[in-house]
Amino acid sequence: MTQAKNKVVVFLGPPGAGKGTQAERLAAEQGLTKISTGDILRDHVKRGTELGQQVRPILDAGKLVPDDILIALIRDKLASMDDVRVIFDGFPRTLPQAEGLDMLLEELGAPVNAVPLLEVPDEVLIARIVERGRQAAARGEAVRSDDTDEVARHRQSVYREQTQPLIDYYAARGHLYRVDGVGGMDEVYSRITDGMK
Ligand code: ADP
Repeated sequence: MTQAKNKVVVFLGPPGAGKGTQAERLAAEQGLTKISTGDILRDHVKRGTELGQQVRPILDAGKLVPDDILIALIRDKLASMDDVRVIFDGFPRTLPQAEGLDMLLEELGAPVNAVPLLEVPDEVLIARIVERGRQAAARGEAVRSDDTDEVARHRQSVYREQTQPLIDYYAARGHLYRVDGVGGMDEVYSRITDGMK
């Protein structure tokens, strides 16, 4: 089977919905590069780069890093690729980011193909995030500084205010489809791939 040259998937859903895990698998099975802006930013913080020092307090507070910083990061990532086969996890998160991404993709001739929206009820989300923190601690791993009850709740409100408008943005372009994010990992994965056909 020949693969389409370019493919762009934008994964939408609230913090704690399981986007990272599902995006990882989709990337592996479909030969896509996963671009997780949260991972990229946390890596900068860990390495203590100039950008890392700048964004650290923002991440710790569960606020959003400025749009121009994100768009510049994504521009660099895309510029280093031959074929544009990507899955975005955690980007775009605001309307200006979505518009910025569309402009970059237009220059590359690789428009967005699919936007799965992973839906999970609010009360399940906070429980999952706090549990993720507890399990990491129990394994002796570093706990994400923003995986506490209070900051997790703030991240949910940021999602509702800043990121939810993207649902309409992508629905209007015909790319959005809704996926029930409650269930086993394989079950949810099948729903994501079924919706993509
Ligand atoms: P989650 O989806 O669980 O909140 P992420 O790893 O996607 O976790 O993001 C963690 C943090 O990184 C966010 O709370 C925010 O501070 C920053 N961040 C990640 N992606 C973006 C983005 N596209 N725009 C602005 N800030 C971002």
